[in-house]
Amino acid sequence: MYQPCLATEIIPSATPDEESDWRWQFSNRIKGLSALSKLLRLTPSETGLYRDLISEYRYAVTPYYLSLIDWSDPNDPIRRQCIPDPREITFSLPGSEKDPLAEQIHMPVPGLIHRYPDRVLAMVTNTCATYCRHCNRKRTWKNPEAGNTRDALGHMVDYVASNSHIREVIVSGGDPLTMNPGLLDEFLGSMEAIPHVEVLRIGTRIPVVLPMRITDDLCQMLARHRPLWVNTHFNHPREITPESTKACERLLKVGIPVSNQTVLLKGINDSPEVMRALFCGLEKIMVRPYYLFHCDAVKGTDHFRTDIRKGIEIMERLWGEIGGLCIPNFVVDLPTGGGKAPMMPSYLLNIDRDEAVFRTYEGKIVRYSCPGGADTPP
Ligand code: SF4
Repeated sequence: MYQPCLATEIIPSATPDEESDWRWQFSNRIKGLSALSKLLRLTPSETGLYRDLISEYRYAVTPYYLSLIDWSDPNDPIRRQCIPDPREITFSLPGSEKDPLAEQIHMPVPGLIHRYPDRVLAMVTNTCATYCRHCNRKRTWKNPEAGNTRDALGHMVDYVASNSHIREVIVSGGDPLTMNPGLLDEFLGSMEAIPHVEVLRIGTRIPVVLPMRITDDLCQMLARHRPLWVNTHFNHPREITPESTKACERLLKVGIPVSNQTVLLKGINDSPEVMRALFCGLEKIMVRPYYLFHCDAVKGTDHFRTDIRKGIEIMERLWGEIGGLCIPNFVVDLPTGGGKAPMMPSYLLNIDRDEAVFRTYEGKIVRYSCPGGADTPP
């Protein structure tokens, strides 16, 4: 059982059973100016700034995720991911936009993004258990929290059914595991019934921010839809707790593979040591590190953006220090819907007909004969 949050003034007391109940956690999320004011001990002059901030970018945090914060550290990595920061409205870098990936213009029906020929992404709700300050869909937060209606979901199903080259449906949001499980079951079933849909994927941060939501019932429902993959979103090794481990284990036990997408965040995980601990920790709980994303140029998140070279430097250290199973692909999602560009340190220095010259991760030069293999003329 996690330690109760120190912010006792704002969270109602609860029994251990209530604390481990996702409904209690969800309905007691910390949100609103008054709670923030107590949490941060805001002065009257700071209160106005935070009022503007949360009216632009809402916040809500589960008591569980809040309990992971070390309040003695103003730069605590959990705190920085969930507590609003004035830089969201006061700091911006050239080129950042509300929707740099041009998702809105790639929506043939509302909420359904079709950017790549063989797959679509369905935004089934705009509700999340905890609002990540680095979220690349902050533009949707102005709308009230709500899941899509059965009708709206039906239009997405119709579009996919009439496009035979779509083989994969990514169910995203918001967080799809916050929606009504009956409706989610229905939606997954309708997509699965389309003959050309081969794979379903769910993108969710629930195992990290509301792990008690991954109940046996929910797992049984998800396990009825196959093949289904779950992609979750751990950004820091401190998020790997007994509770989040158990949530992932439950999914794995019913045969659902769990992989992870991390976002490279300045001051949170932008060091080889933190990334090494995160990815090795994920490997230990059998969650496969899949992508490391460079932080997108999204308005309201610029203070999290690092130099792209920082990610390459981290990847270079990781390749030298840990096994390939722990190493995700580092990618930059290109603006204007240009797709993902994989980024790797380069180890090939030169190649010609007879020889390829490599450098090792330790900087040694290694020569490799006959790089053309059996295609090389004798
Ligand atoms: S859970 Fe996902 S969609 Fe929700 S705020 Fe976090 S990153 Fe954004």
